[in-house]
Formats: sequence, structure tokens, C-alpha cells
Amino acid sequence: MPEPLSPRELLALDRQHVWHPYGPMPGRAAPLLVESASGVRLRLAEPVEGQDELVDGMSSWWSAVHGYNHPVLNDAAHGQLGRMSHVMFGGLTHEPAVRLAKRLVDITPEPLEHVFLADSGSVSVEVAVKMCLQYWRSLGKPRKQRLLTWRGGYHGDTWQPMSVCDPDGGMHELWQGVLPRQIFADAPPAGFDAAPDEAYAAQLRELIGRHAEELAAVIVEPVVQGAGGMSFHSPGYLRVLREACDAHDVLLVFDEIATGFGRTGALFAAEHAGVAPDVMCLGKALTGGYLTLAATLCTAAVADGISRGALPVLAHGPTFMGNPLAAAVADASIDLLLSQDWAQEVKRIEAGLWEGLAPARSHAGVREVRVLGAIGVVQLDHEVDMAAATRAAVREGVWLRPFRDLIYTMPPYITGDDDLARICAAVCAAAREG
Ligand SMILES: *Cc1c(COP(=O)(O)O)cnc(C)c1O
Repeated sequence: MPEPLSPRELLALDRQHVWHPYGPMPGRAAPLLVESASGVRLRLAEPVEGQDELVDGMSSWWSAVHGYNHPVLNDAAHGQLGRMSHVMFGGLTHEPAVRLAKRLVDITPEPLEHVFLADSGSVSVEVAVKMCLQYWRSLGKPRKQRLLTWRGGYHGDTWQPMSVCDPDGGMHELWQGVLPRQIFADAPPAGFDAAPDEAYAAQLRELIGRHAEELAAVIVEPVVQGAGGMSFHSPGYLRVLREACDAHDVLLVFDEIATGFGRTGALFAAEHAGVAPDVMCLGKALTGGYLTLAATLCTAAVADGISRGALPVLAHGPTFMGNPLAAAVADASIDLLLSQDWAQEVKRIEAGLWEGLAPARSHAGVREVRVLGAIGVVQLDHEVDMAAATRAAVREGVWLRPFRDLIYTMPPYITGDDDLARICAAVCAAAREG
């Protein structure tokens, strides 16, 4: 065993050497040091604000839907570890990947038929874009190489995904002239239950029609825009996109990396609209938050188009493609999800979030409280003071990670009613003090 390092030494080394998400170097705000995690609780290496355990309100960025250290997922990981944690996927295959692919085809919307197992959400979006561009190249239409999306989206941090993230985030300015230039519609009007706005639908149709000659695909997050602003829109717009894409020979990509596996109350958000995309990206909750794995699914038509090209292969193949350990845990996680009444659990959480977040409505500085499925959002009328809001939540014994003007939670589905009430109290406290 290596020499143990004290929490203080670890944090000093962290600050000196380790990048954190969207962080400066060296780091400015000290991260909390987590020693272990179990159920819905993160155990801290040393108490912070008097708490040595925090109830997790974030599911580790949408992923840990069953909570931490789950016996079923642990068993799946241990079992697979004893057989092999990885082998290359070129020329070799294995049961975990085959089972998982078949399972994903079975549970996703009907025409999705083929599965590319990638190692992160961003890479799965890169693969989705590559599939679409290559499809049109193979069919002799290489001009169809741009993407259309709506503002307010988030699709990951690698190059193509960045080009379809919300252009008003400041990032597009930084990368002007470097990122591929895509086509942006306005952000979809807010409100899951709001009647679709006909003028907005017309804008979508008009843009797709006008750019059809150069458009490979439309890519959107269905129903919930996550990291771009935690906003919800009517599923009706997805039907508008499907019809316009069909009418103008444009592929439709749904990025369900955040929304997949029940988070919005449907197993996949596309089901709210009753439409299927040509290509779909999955990630985050795919392995129940255990390991990094993502998937890009496509229809037989897309795969067939690609296969008819001069280069009849999909030219992509990550080193850790189809990782058996991640695939085995993903399969067990999906089993676990489907073996219970997950929809009822998400409904229970939805009701708890409405009830628990209602007090925030009357706070000064709160613009809106919104809930959909197991997602609860308090939007402020000002930029949140991250340090103050985080501290307020920690004082309540809860882990939250606010951003911009948003304090939000998407708890693990196993969160009990008492812990859920605690999370809501922490969101309210963070909204008050942030
Ligand atoms: C998180 C996310 C991604 C990127 O996934 P990574 O695994 O972080 O690369 C892409 N799209 C959406 C909708 C996401 O929420």
C-alpha cells in the first residue's frame, strides 16, 4: 500500500496538479474530498460545515440513478472483472457488449437497429455527426454537411458537439473561425405542457427547408435542455422536426445522454412525442454512474447508406470501444431499472420536488421553479453566487452544483422521501443565500 496522504496533502496536490471540469489552473475553490459513497450519500474525508456526509442531489451529473455502491451493480462489476476488464473490440467481441447492444435496440424507439459503443457522451455525439455526414457522402451528396439545432442546447465538449452547443455561452466567441459554423434556430419556447407555438414551429420548418441542400442533420436534446439551461419544451416541436426532416431529406439526431433511462418520466424523452430519430445518443445513466460508456444508435437505413459508400465502413474505433466491464455494468443497471416500477419512483420524486421546492417561489430573486420527472430547477433572476449557494446546501447536508442562474437537482431514483425533502430544503436555502 502507498503511504496514506492526509486530506490536507491531497487537496494541496489536487490544487497543484489536477484540472477539474471548467476549472482554472491552479483551482480557486477547493473541491470537497469524497472518501466513499453509498446509497444516496457521499462520505467526506473531513467534515465541512459540520457535515461528514452529504445527500447527493446531483446523481453525479445525471448518471447515478440507482445510487452508489449498489450490490447488484457491484456484483456485475466483480463478476466481469474476474473474467476480463477489457479486450480490444477490433476483430474480437464478447457477451457483455452483444447483450447490451441487443438490449438497447429492444428498449429504444423501434427503427433504431444498430449500436456503436463509445467511451463518453461527447464521443457518441461525434460518432452521430460522423454517421450523418458520411451517410450523405455515401449517397453522393457531400454538400449536406452542416448541422441545425436550436439555441440553449448542450451536446458535449469535443469539437463537433461544441459547435452545436448554445452559441451565447461565450464559448463560440472564443472559438470563432475555428468551430464548424452551424445553423441555429431560436431556443424552443419554454414549458413542457405549453401548447406548441405555431410561429416557432414555422421558423423550424422554414430554416430546415431553406438550408436543406447543405443540412446533414438536425440535432437536439428532446424535451429537456440540460447543461445549456435546464429548460423544458413541448414534445410537439419534436414532431415538427421529424416532419420537416422527412420532408426535406435531413436526418434527425436526438441526444438523450441526459434524458435517457427515465429521468423525464418516460424511458426515453422521444416517447413523450411519439417520434423516433434516425440517430440517438445515450450516455450518463447508461452504466448507472459506475463507468464511462455511451452509445450511438442508428436505423438500418442510416447504416445501409453508409455501407453503400466508396468507403463502406464507419471510420471510427476508440481503443476502449465496447469495454466489457462498463457494458456488463450497463446491462445490469438497465436490468435493475426495468425490474422495478421505475416510472412510479420518478413520479414520486416529481411530486416530492413540486412540494419541496414550492417555498422557493416566494423567495426574492427567484424567477421560476420548474419540475419535470426527477428534475427540479430553481431559476434565479441573477447569476448564482456559487460559493455561497454550495455552502448553504452543504450546511443542510446536501450536495448540489449550481451554475449560471440555476440551482437544480436530479436525485438518484432511490432517494427516499425524507432525503428528498432534505434536498429540496437545501435547494431553497441555496436559492436564498446564492
Ligand atoms: C453530458 C452530456 C453530453 C456529453 O457527455 P460526456 O460524457 O460528458 O462527454 C452530451 N450531451 C448531453 C445532452 C449531455 O447532457
